[in-house]
Amino acid sequence: MSASDSSEVKAISCRLNMVDRQLKARGITDGAVLAAMRTVPRHLFVPGQSIEQAYGDYPLPIGHEQTISQPYIVGSMTQEMAVDGNSRVLEIGTGCGYQTAVLAEIVQHVYSIEYIPDLFEETRDRLHRLGYNNITTMAGDGSLGWPRYAPFASIIVTAAAPAVPPALSDQLAEGGRLLIPLQVSGFSQELYVIEKTPQGIKSRSLYAVRFVPMRGAIED
Ligand code: SAH
Repeated sequence: MSASDSSEVKAISCRLNMVDRQLKARGITDGAVLAAMRTVPRHLFVPGQSIEQAYGDYPLPIGHEQTISQPYIVGSMTQEMAVDGNSRVLEIGTGCGYQTAVLAEIVQHVYSIEYIPDLFEETRDRLHRLGYNNITTMAGDGSLGWPRYAPFASIIVTAAAPAVPPALSDQLAEGGRLLIPLQVSGFSQELYVIEKTPQGIKSRSLYAVRFVPMRGAIED
């Protein structure tokens, strides 16, 4: 067995353990989410880390002062989006593209916006190399959404905002869910699920989180 074969075997075993111990054991039950996270090679999204670290129970640096979320947070947010193979979704904060790839395994198409041009380019090339053909990315300010492809069945934001950007709730389809970390006071953030129902907007907080701040128009 070659060195690359044995590291591939190790990555698969780390990935299956991650799904059992970090996701299933903590209440992630959606079969499509579990299958996607058993499939996506997380170690190829976090260059410079060992295979064990790539599948560890924590966030990791991805360069440009940004981080990839802990696996549990990715699984939990994806499950809360309540999407399927017919859904077209929007992601704000592509980062290294791991969450993007997990979504691409589940939904029909992912549109994803990244603010940092260098990170956008790196990740666009990575997703292309890995063969994803249902992901469209762009560099820009995601707080404005992506009107050209709206409405979206669900929107996921992976940077913390002081408030829900109005463009994002406008671009959410009726019945759709927007997942967003909100800055609730100086240092604390909570993950919110915003639902667009026929009776209006409903929102609930899931749990405390820690994301990098959202940049762009929302800062002004
Ligand atoms: N989901 C990513 C998380 C990356 S961290 C991953 O798993 O790797 C948050 C990302 O949001 C960073 O890449 C940051 O540059 C990006 N970001 C911050 N503000 C943004 C904005 N207004 N529009 C788009 N991306 C933004």
